[in-house]
Amino acid sequence: MSVAAPPVTKLSNFINGDWRDSSATEWLDVINPATGEPIARTPLSDASEVAAAVEAAAAAFPEWRRTPAEDRIQPLFKLKYLLEEHLDEISRLITTENGKTFTEAKAEMRRAIENVEVACGIPMMMQGYNLEDVARGIDEMMIRQPLGVVAAIVPFNFPGMIAFWFLPYAIACGNTFVIKPSERVPLTMRYIYELLQQAGLPKGVVNLVNGGKAAVDALLEHPKVRAISFVGSTPVAKYIYARSGANGKRCQAQGGAKNHVIVLPDADMSMATQIISDSAFGCAGQRCLAVSVAVTVGEAQKTFRDSIAEAASRLKVGNGLEEGVQMGPVITPQSKSRVESLIAAGERQGAKVLLDGRNARVPKHESGNFVKPTILDDVPASSELADTEIFGPVLSLVHADDLDEGLRFLERSTYGNQASLFTSSGAAARRFRYEAPAGNIGINIGVAAPMAYFPFSGWKDSFFGIMHGQGRDAVEFFTEKKVVVERWAKEHSRKF
Ligand code: NAD
Repeated sequence: MSVAAPPVTKLSNFINGDWRDSSATEWLDVINPATGEPIARTPLSDASEVAAAVEAAAAAFPEWRRTPAEDRIQPLFKLKYLLEEHLDEISRLITTENGKTFTEAKAEMRRAIENVEVACGIPMMMQGYNLEDVARGIDEMMIRQPLGVVAAIVPFNFPGMIAFWFLPYAIACGNTFVIKPSERVPLTMRYIYELLQQAGLPKGVVNLVNGGKAAVDALLEHPKVRAISFVGSTPVAKYIYARSGANGKRCQAQGGAKNHVIVLPDADMSMATQIISDSAFGCAGQRCLAVSVAVTVGEAQKTFRDSIAEAASRLKVGNGLEEGVQMGPVITPQSKSRVESLIAAGERQGAKVLLDGRNARVPKHESGNFVKPTILDDVPASSELADTEIFGPVLSLVHADDLDEGLRFLERSTYGNQASLFTSSGAAARRFRYEAPAGNIGINIGVAAPMAYFPFSGWKDSFFGIMHGQGRDAVEFFTEKKVVVERWAKEHSRKF
């Protein structure tokens, strides 16, 4: 009996409150990474479609900016409840187009919802400050005003969450917004935009343009786009930051990662193993906070090596929509072969393959992009692999004699997204927090996950910019400060 292929959705752009067919001449097939089935086609929109979205956002700005902050957050309250109500459908879409498990997809959306909740506090968070009598009879105030049209360009690995580091804050502050989702996972944002439409935002406040590099370049070049928020790989982040600067736009550009965890001999080894396994292999290692290098210190080497290999080999790999599956596929066949060739390169550069996830076969899913958990032991510090972002389920093990030597691994890395330490020593933890060169620090934590009310960004080549994503930094990023110095001569008040 033949089974009918699932319908393939042809995607449109959301401009000025309506879904518009794209005039793109190039389209990209969106493939379910677990099954290899085509599920959608993304238009690679050109500059004219980006311009239409930016013009719609620019036209909506004057009225939206004048809308009181209290009224601007009402659609966000509605959105929160719509996201809660449709959490399962959105999470299923995330799993279908990205591959992560349904549980991971739901956890991703929880983080997204938190950002909506925090942005509902904009009437408080957007306040400025003032001082009477900066000189005799003269007062000064600082007020925050929205920028205008702002845009976000986001990656494939969190199809739902990452847009929420920006969107709710941008619009609550009175800006109008254009998003360019990852062309590889466009369905989640399409669904979320349908909810945004139901939430009652005026036309043109939020817009969506599907596409790839041409659409990004059009956003970078459009004179009415005032600010760019980017999340993706480091080479693209550098490019976005440079072009934004050249065109006078403010920019926050989050890049790639190579995250280290140091395991001290006094750590609770069973807790460390469980948490590090979840961090390295959760979302098939395709998280910018995934631990990818474990540095064991002293006697931790043997115990940790044996226990992590055991834990990783037990993980059930498969289609993330199936019950009991703990790890899904990587995003594309190209990604699978890239990860596998980096494992081979690691081997050539002197590492031992302790657990080999290459050539994985998942019954009934022969066309899926599966790589099983892989552990490389004794990765030479001087090897190219030691500082290459693999972005797959591969954990490298290296050894250090003490915490000093362990910290040197982190200092050598060009990335600085996250660094973790497992220990039961408060003094070691304090030293690590003080010295580790990364934007997110985990102490007995494997994924220092972005909580909406704290800033989120890395250091070094993991971030280009000043204002991080989320929370108060988002309010800083999406507003311009203005100071007003006022004098009212006494005679004016005598009339009353
Ligand atoms: P990517 O850099 O390939 O793509 C990100 C976005 O940029 C997409 O929307 C894409 O269309 C666009 N893009 C791609 N190439 C471009 C080019 N040459 N010019 C202009 N635009 C371009 O990243 P990805 O593969 O989608 O995502 C994975 C990467 O993102 C990893 O490096 C990961 O570490 C990083 N990431 C970082 C964070 C963080 O917070 N630092 C979070 C998530 C993912």
